[in-house]
Amino acid sequence: MSSLPRVGVGVDVHPLEAGRPMWLAGLLWPDEQRGCAGHSDGDVAAHACCDALLSAAGLGDLGQWFGSDRPEWAGASGVALLTETARIVRAVGFEIGNVAVQVIGDRPKIGPRRGEAEAALATACGAPVSVGATTTDGLGLTGRGEGIAAIAHALVLAAS
Ligand code: MG
Repeated sequence: MSSLPRVGVGVDVHPLEAGRPMWLAGLLWPDEQRGCAGHSDGDVAAHACCDALLSAAGLGDLGQWFGSDRPEWAGASGVALLTETARIVRAVGFEIGNVAVQVIGDRPKIGPRRGEAEAALATACGAPVSVGATTTDGLGLTGRGEGIAAIAHALVLAAS
């Protein structure tokens, strides 16, 4: 296996739905009136991190690893999925360098809880995680408040 670092990318989007708890970047956001809908907790940031790690390791994507053939993972939290993804990536011989994720949406505001979010995701994957956020100035599905998106990159290295 090459010792050169490998980068990966992951993107996720979930619709917002009234009355659902908002789980984002490994945290519960209790002031939000709407949360990300989906079969799981809808944590787009954690899911994007998972896909970025699998991408970096050349291991496909989230659907491949946690799809219908692994029903024990149905409805698992984003943090649980990220913990298991990191275990898989290490099991095939990689170290995780770092992960960076950016949330795209108007709410919730990440900044005040950035440190908490970074700690939650870093604990899950056992490597540093940077969490950023941006808006789309009112454009598109995130600007209209229909959903939240996240994009992540991960760097892995062959374990020596
Ligand atoms: Mg997802």
